[in-house]
Amino acid sequence: MKNIAVYCGSRSGNHPAYSEEAIKLGNEMVSAGYGLVYGAGNIGLMGIIADTVLAAGGEVIGVIPQALYDREVAHLGLNQLFTVQTMHERKALMMKHSDAFIAMPGGIGTFEELFEVLTWFQLGFHHKPIGLLNVNGYYDQLIGFLKQTVEVGFVQENLDNLLIVSSDPAELVAKLTARMR
Ligand code: AMP
Repeated sequence: MKNIAVYCGSRSGNHPAYSEEAIKLGNEMVSAGYGLVYGAGNIGLMGIIADTVLAAGGEVIGVIPQALYDREVAHLGLNQLFTVQTMHERKALMMKHSDAFIAMPGGIGTFEELFEVLTWFQLGFHHKPIGLLNVNGYYDQLIGFLKQTVEVGFVQENLDNLLIVSSDPAELVAKLTARMR
């Protein structure tokens, strides 16, 4: 089975659209035949997407550092739960088990995870497609800033090649599928 890692907030944001789109994305992934890899928390959008995938009959792999086990309320209903020692191990294991990546709205932790897979893609360390689910225009300014980084010559890559952006979960999953090897 192929898996998609979803990076998303350990909070839910203050607009219902964030949770609604997490539910849509989870259901879309299951109907497209994908399992979920995520940070194993049972809070915020993380908990919502995991519960959605499980309820729809999908498979979920979670990876959580021991130190966050209580703080992020490790989800005990997953098909596989890996407890690791460091954040680096968490990201490495999530990457290893995934065939594509999606960042949903989230905070600094989500950005860090997104930028790591982007960096590694840019360097050719992996060839797995990366998507950004731009719910409610949450990422508009980041997308604008990334365009600027290309314009002023600090990012070489054609952005469309690096990051697939959509506000629609079904469209995003379809576009990632088309790019998976
Ligand atoms: P946030 O977007 O800040 O709500 O965090 C989303 C998830 O990313 C949470 O599970 C955080 O624990 C996780 N996270 C934050 N920083 C890192 C990191 N450096 N490596 C791996 N996961 C992280």
